[in-house]
Formats: sequence, structure tokens, C-alpha cells
Amino acid sequence: MADFDFDLFTIGAGSGGVRASRLAAQYGARVGVAEEYRVGGTCVIRGCVPKKFLVYASEYGHSFQDARGYGWTADKIDFSWRKLIENKDNEIDRLNGIYIRNLKNAGAEIFQTRAILKDRNTVHLVDENRDVTAEKILIATGGAPWTDESVPGHDLGITSNEAFHLEKLPRHVVVAGGGYIAIEFACIFRGLGCDVCLVYRGEDILRYFDTDISVQVHSEMKRQGIRIITQSVFEKIEHLGGDEKRVHLSNGTQLDTDLIFWAVGRTPSTAGLGLEEIGVELDKRGAVAVDEYSRSSVDNIFAVGDVTDRVNLTPVAIREGAAFAETEFNNNPTSMDYTFIPKAVFSQPPVGTVGYAEHEARKKFKNVDVYKTNFRAMKNMLTGSEERVLMKLVVDGDTDRVLGCHIVGADAPEMIQCIAIAVKAGCTKKHFDETVALHPTIAEELVTMREKYVPPM
Ligand code: NDP
Repeated sequence: MADFDFDLFTIGAGSGGVRASRLAAQYGARVGVAEEYRVGGTCVIRGCVPKKFLVYASEYGHSFQDARGYGWTADKIDFSWRKLIENKDNEIDRLNGIYIRNLKNAGAEIFQTRAILKDRNTVHLVDENRDVTAEKILIATGGAPWTDESVPGHDLGITSNEAFHLEKLPRHVVVAGGGYIAIEFACIFRGLGCDVCLVYRGEDILRYFDTDISVQVHSEMKRQGIRIITQSVFEKIEHLGGDEKRVHLSNGTQLDTDLIFWAVGRTPSTAGLGLEEIGVELDKRGAVAVDEYSRSSVDNIFAVGDVTDRVNLTPVAIREGAAFAETEFNNNPTSMDYTFIPKAVFSQPPVGTVGYAEHEARKKFKNVDVYKTNFRAMKNMLTGSEERVLMKLVVDGDTDRVLGCHIVGADAPEMIQCIAIAVKAGCTKKHFDETVALHPTIAEELVTMREKYVPPM
């Protein structure tokens, strides 16, 4: 057997790469990991984790309002963006340190550099200007925000990468997109007091979700004062001087703003890695094409996480990384199960969802029953807030199996993590009905829905 420097060399130290590398090292492999930015990857450094801190910060904006109904006076409220970012950065530094320590403690060697492939066993460490060799190579380079470069002035806008490091809180934000990042950041900025306008090319935001979710989130965002312009895109962006910009939309509207935020999707980070040159097949979006064991078309090169564009979520990348390490370094062939993955959108109120949307279920199953409820939560009876909660169960009418559960409302992601166990386990509507309600909670409605929804004629 050829003598390589490493048994495994991982390019990219995000969620998937780190999990795979740590496990492989724990199974006795000699592991090298290259990272060009910061160990921890998108999720920890400029994604889920810092985003959730901004969501928490933003939610206080609503809480101070709500507190009045409960007898509190909060007249001299002050908010410091600088303080928030400083505290967030300190926590991210701490987490970054933990990720580095965990990799090192497992025995992996970290290279702080961009790495590119020279051949199927050779990795060039760009900043060190030298090569290392490995028997197996794992591509875990994730993805990056995409902006529409065909729009004149597109570079006057920022992406989520920059949003975490803004010098100051903007006064007015125009967001492009209607997916996860657009919705989450529109709500974050609104909760922090900014004027927000969201511009979406389609009709229904969050269109990959159950239609009731899309409609509910849209109306909740509008209720908070977020302006939503649908069926429109950016045509041109002009710099007006200072921080001011003007966005020209395809419907003729002009919006003056001090922050333009592109949230129109992410693309797999494969450019310039040398993959195609050595025969690794990419799909039409530039993602590494892999089989169920995350193996690419070159049999010693593997890929996990967003760079493969399967289900682009942190816990999925972690599981794919773990499955790869189990298969390749623990002699235990393991593939990822992509069914019934719970998902959340941290809008305000948030979304939690698992399983089939109603329209998906109707395509796949002959008889589909729907149970849904839409109500004002008890807490808001004193706050005066008109915020509503949506809960929906999609059930196979033939087997009674719960196929999907969809919630918009306070703590929906927390609820859905637990409900996902029941849905994944194949629980029936009867199991839900037989479960005693926990009163008074929002979640109790999940086990008290008895009437099948009949659409209006
Ligand atoms: P999404 O795919 O969720 O949304 C992209 C949005 O941009 C869609 O509304 C899409 O419209 C729109 N769009 C795409 N191309 C154009 C264009 N040329 N002009 C105008 N609009 C366009 O991507 P995000 O960037 O929001 O998030 C990327 C991924 O990151 C998500 O898919 C998710 O996997 C992950 N993520 C998960 C989070 C979570 O779990 N809470 C949070 C943030 C990100 P259309 O709907 O018509 O296609």
C-alpha cells in the first residue's frame, strides 16, 4: 500500500468536516484538516449560532411591548447593536476555541489554510505552499451566499456573511428573497426597530413549506409592519451618497434604504478546488455528486454537508460526516436516513415543521386527512398582541399515520423537535388523541384537534 502522510485529509472544518474528522481520528486514523477561514464553519461562525443570538436580541423588542400588559413599565428602553455584536463575537470565539480543541484532542492536525486538490491523493496547502498526501479525502467546504451579479450595483448589497459584522444597526433594510435567510433576517431587523421591506420574486414566501405556513408567516410579518412586495425582483441598485442606496424593482417601485440584503440562496463551494480537473463529478449547481455513502465519482474522494447540496442543514451535515467515518474508518457501512427531518425557520413567530406538507401528501397518498387550528395564544390575551398560532396535522386517511406536523407560533421549533420523534416513529392520529393534554400550554392543541378540516366549497 502507498505510504501517505494521512489516512484522511478533510478540506473544510465546518459541522460535517469536523464530525467526520473527529470520529475518524477516534477510530485511529491519522487525520489532517484544512480550513481557510475559521474552524466551526458556517453554522458556528456565520450562520445558525450567531443568527440565533440576533433572533434572541430581536425578540426582546416584542417582549418589552408585551410586558406592559403584565404590569411592567419599560419606558427607557435602550439597545446597543455594538454591545450585542461584541457579546456575540465573544461567544463565537469561545465556540471556535472548543471546536479547535476537540479536533486536536481527537488527534487531528489542523492546517489554517486554503487547500486544493492536485491529484486524487495530493492536497496542496496554499498558504504553506506545500503538498500533503492522503489515502482518503473528504470535501466538506460547505456553501456560500449567492448574489445576482446581473443586477447593476449588486455589490452595494450585503449577504448574511456581512450581516453579523455591521458597524451599526441600519435604519431601513431591503431584503431580497423569500426563503429561510430572508425571512429570518427581515424579522430580526424589524424586532430591533428597523423599517423592513422584503422583495420576493414569487407569490408565496417560504414556498417549499406547507401553504398554511407560508400564508401564516406572511400575515404575521405584515402584522409587525414588515412590507412584503411579491412577484418582483431587483433591477438596479444606485448609490445615492453616504450609506444611502436606491433599489429599483421590476414592478417600477423605488426603495431608498441604507441596507440592502441579498438572501437569494447559497451555492456549493467547489470553485477552484481542483475537483473537476481530477475527475470528480459535479452536478449542475456545482455540488459534488455523491452516492448514499457520500462517495464521489473518484472512489477515494468523499463529500458531506452543503457542498453536496442534499439537505442543507447542520444536523444533516453532522450525520453525513458521522456516517462517512463509521463506513470508512469503523468498518460499519452506514448511510444517512433523510426521512422526517425536522426543520425550523426562526421567523417571529417561528416555524417548526416535520414530514409531508399537505400538497406533498396529497400527491403521494390516496386519502389525506387534515386537522388544523388557528388561535390567539393565552399569553396574548393580556398583551393585546394579535399574534396567532397555527397548528396542522397531515394524516394518512387509510392507515391513520401522522405524515406531517406544521406549527407557526411561539416555541414551534422546540415543540417540533419532540413531535418529530413521534412522527418518525410512525405514530397514528389515534396515538395523538390518546395522549392527555398538558394544560395550559400551546402544545396541548396538538392532541386535542378532533375535527377533520373540510375546505370551504
Ligand atoms: P433558500 O433556498 O431558502 O431561499 C432562497 C430564496 O431566494 C428563495 O425565496 C428563492 O425564490 C429566492 N431566489 C433565488 N434565486 C433568485 C433570483 N435570481 N432572484 C430573486 N430571488 C431569488 O435560501 P437561503 O439563502 O435563504 O438559505 C440557504 C439554505 O440555508 C436553506 O435552503 C437552508 O437549507 C439553510 N438555512 C437553514 C436555516 C434554518 O434551518 N433555520 C436558516 C438559514 C439557512 P424561490 O422561492 O422562488 O425559489
